[in-house]
Amino acid sequence: MPASPRLVVARGHEAPAATQILEALRRAAPRTRDHLTRSTGLSVATVARVVPRLVEAGLVRERPDLVPAGVAGRPSVPVELDVSRFVVVGVHVGLAATTVSLSDLSGRVVASRERAHTPGRFDATETASAVAQMLRSLPQRVPLGAGLVGPWPDLSLDREEAAARLHEELGLDVVSAHHLSAAASADHALRGHERDGVTLYVYARSTASFVLVSEHESRAEVSHPVRLTHFPVDDDVPCECGARGCFAVAAGDQAVGARALGDRLASRADVAALVASAESGDRAADGALRQRARSLGRMAARVRDMVDPDRLVLLGQAFTRYRPAVTEVTRAFAATTRLPAIEPVFTQFGPSIQAVAAGAAALRPVYDDPWGVVPLVPSDPLVPPAGVATERRESTHVLVNDH
Ligand SMILES: [Zn+2]
Repeated sequence: MPASPRLVVARGHEAPAATQILEALRRAAPRTRDHLTRSTGLSVATVARVVPRLVEAGLVRERPDLVPAGVAGRPSVPVELDVSRFVVVGVHVGLAATTVSLSDLSGRVVASRERAHTPGRFDATETASAVAQMLRSLPQRVPLGAGLVGPWPDLSLDREEAAARLHEELGLDVVSAHHLSAAASADHALRGHERDGVTLYVYARSTASFVLVSEHESRAEVSHPVRLTHFPVDDDVPCECGARGCFAVAAGDQAVGARALGDRLASRADVAALVASAESGDRAADGALRQRARSLGRMAARVRDMVDPDRLVLLGQAFTRYRPAVTEVTRAFAATTRLPAIEPVFTQFGPSIQAVAAGAAALRPVYDDPWGVVPLVPSDPLVPPAGVATERRESTHVLVNDH
């Protein structure tokens, strides 16, 4: 069972005023200072003092164009996150591919590129040059830091060393986290504080894992990520671990892709090719993807029955990539779970989930300590064209202690 929560995804009323205001603006349309006072519980004086500092730092901008006609005075000018200038760099290292991305302050991915790699290999130099190229194509963007995420227990990579190398190459602070913890934190940031309780997040693509996000009085924490790579999913395929029917060999992207090639359902050993066949009307390919969806629905139901959460979110391309099979997941889930009915929610991130997760890890320090992250003189001209190292202060890499 998951260990005690380690990663805080929202600090609620315990957070510094600037963090509470940024978190409130991240979830909402432009807000007036009055709205912010009500939604955060901060005093009028605090909001009046902190908002102009956030505007000056370039993290928040005023929207005088949204003031209703006939209303005067600064307190009625709505403010919103300024998503036009700062970005964070996201790097997701998966089993088969590396994704490099840039996300704005709201967590929206503004640029992203996925490239296949040799499993277990992470090339920090090549990754940094992809980042520099991306930043050169968006010269108005200023990077504040970087996030490095992946399914670490499934990669034969030293996470700490990978983060240190990336930091060295980029010259930016690097936060590293498990990719599912980061994705759950991004999903939570968008959904906001729904109600107290526990949300179970189950991820599946080449690897599978789950985390729990516990919310209490607007504070939210993510549990230790738990691997589902060798979780039994009702299949007879032998696994290298000695068991049969583990997720990795029965329903993981790589296994499903390899089987599709063997069964001549796809032109290459790749789940994308199988999905393409199904989408072009191949009924056998469609059947294979539906069968996999049922395995995933049963897996989600068994995990749900073990941890008995209040809400269930399913994420990762194995669940979402082939839309016609989504109902199979829901049906198999409903038929398998032995607890009262619950409707699983599928994340809205779709194919950008790896980039969103990496961006969420990179954004954490911006929200936790905005004054420690923004450049000292925000109105200065932009970073060097290569997009690397603004020499403003000593940078470090931070490991989020979540596994
Ligand atoms: Zn196994």
